[in-house]
Amino acid sequence: MIHTINQNIYLPRPAIIKELIVENSQIKTFDLSFVDEEYNKTFTYAPGQFMMVSIPHCGEAPISFSSTPSRPGTLSLSVRKAGTLTNAMHELTEGAFIGLRGPYGTPFSMDALKGKNLLFVAGGIGLAPLRSVINYCMDNEKDFREITILYGSRLPSDLAFTADLDLWQKRPDTTCLLTVDQAEPGWNGHTGVVTTLFDKITVDPSSTVALVCGPPLMIRFVLAELSRMGIQDEDIITTLERHMKCGVGICRHCHMDNKLVCVDGPVFNRAELRNLEVAELLT
Ligand SMILES: Cc1cc2nc3c(=O)[nH]c(=O)nc-3n(C[C@H](O)[C@H](O)[C@H](O)COP(=O)(O)OP(=O)(O)OC[C@H]3O[C@@H](n4cnc5c(N)ncnc54)[C@H](O)[C@@H]3O)c2cc1C
Repeated sequence: MIHTINQNIYLPRPAIIKELIVENSQIKTFDLSFVDEEYNKTFTYAPGQFMMVSIPHCGEAPISFSSTPSRPGTLSLSVRKAGTLTNAMHELTEGAFIGLRGPYGTPFSMDALKGKNLLFVAGGIGLAPLRSVINYCMDNEKDFREITILYGSRLPSDLAFTADLDLWQKRPDTTCLLTVDQAEPGWNGHTGVVTTLFDKITVDPSSTVALVCGPPLMIRFVLAELSRMGIQDEDIITTLERHMKCGVGICRHCHMDNKLVCVDGPVFNRAELRNLEVAELLT
């Protein structure tokens, strides 16, 4: 009976909120566990993939994994208040249930990152999917060279994942620089958009892969800067957001030219983007 039910790909599986972490006034991280313990044990995913998350009567939306599969038993989704579903999620407390289906989407190719210097550039909630990759790389540090993380938020109080940022800043093999668009009292760090941090780092374009995630305008300027630094289009990787309904390539709601963000993405390199006529992403 259960087997038959699970053949319906649109049917969400119930998951319980084990722990809630308030990242800032707009973002919460949900540490989750499937109610079906057997399924929970066998569930796997890859950095860059997403789940379709639902609450009855509030809708469904794609949310990326912010946890890493290199830490088995963790399934975290970090959610910024944006509309009907995400506002309802922010009202939930530990012990409440949500629906999950997935994992969906083409992940970051972790094999392609092996032996490379990695430059992560994130803005706001964009650090969520990159956190999954960063912590994976740190858990498998012998496979990767130097890690540089540039992270920007609007205000100091908007910085998310501060516990991770503290850990990353303490690592001798990692450079983690923060910036805010606008300082607040007590902020002694860098002020300016995330691209202003590029002056503070040295990048070898021939051995560096850059991974970028954030608001569309930030992606546009960061991609242009990375190309100016000489990084090849194939080594500039970003994620795209489009509204989607099914998540599995059937409804075509998230199409961009001949690509579907849900199955062909959400991870794309800049060479792939240049083939799509998404002018707003190309300078
Ligand atoms: C692959 C992927 C991964 C994502 N990962 C994350 C993540 O990790 N964390 C996170 O917080 N968010 C993530 N998002 C974004 C998230 O899915 C959206 O913010 C989602 O719309 C939230 O649903 P909602 O019901 O709360 O908001 P909605 O009610 O959908 O409203 C959100 C905004 O979209 C507008 N809108 C609603 N419907 C449409 C439509 N059909 N076309 C255009 N605009 C519309 C609304 O006016 C509003 O401004 C991801 C999106 C994608 C595609």
